[in-house]
Amino acid sequence: MEEFPFSPHIECPFCREEIVRPVKAITTTCPNCGKTISLDNRIFNQKYVFSGEIVTRGNISVGEKGFVKGNLSAAEIVIEGTVEGNVKAVERIQLGHSSHLTGNAETERLIVLEGATLLGDVKIGLRSRRKENV
Ligand SMILES: [Zn+2]
Repeated sequence: MEEFPFSPHIECPFCREEIVRPVKAITTTCPNCGKTISLDNRIFNQKYVFSGEIVTRGNISVGEKGFVKGNLSAAEIVIEGTVEGNVKAVERIQLGHSSHLTGNAETERLIVLEGATLLGDVKIGLRSRRKENV
């Protein structure tokens, strides 16, 4: 699979504290709020329907044949297929040439390639904005 440029820190999805990313672990415990944070990478290459949300501080990839119905939260999210739901990535969202996203996108950096479809609201640069507020 594609290697993502990992940042040395991750944001806790529960308390939003920045913590050090452990090496070679699939879960970690947030030292601030004590909750378990999933770090595994998820790849979807077929239809996957669920209610609720996948929350990881690993990465999520939706392949060209992938169809995901549900909300996604991860460090980085790369979409080539179809997603119906809200997507939130602490680092980056990439919408590929054949991607169809119906839902809101919220991320630090957004990459939209030619041919992508996006029906929803977009919020980008959240971290920078938060720093300004401090
Ligand atoms: Zn936490």
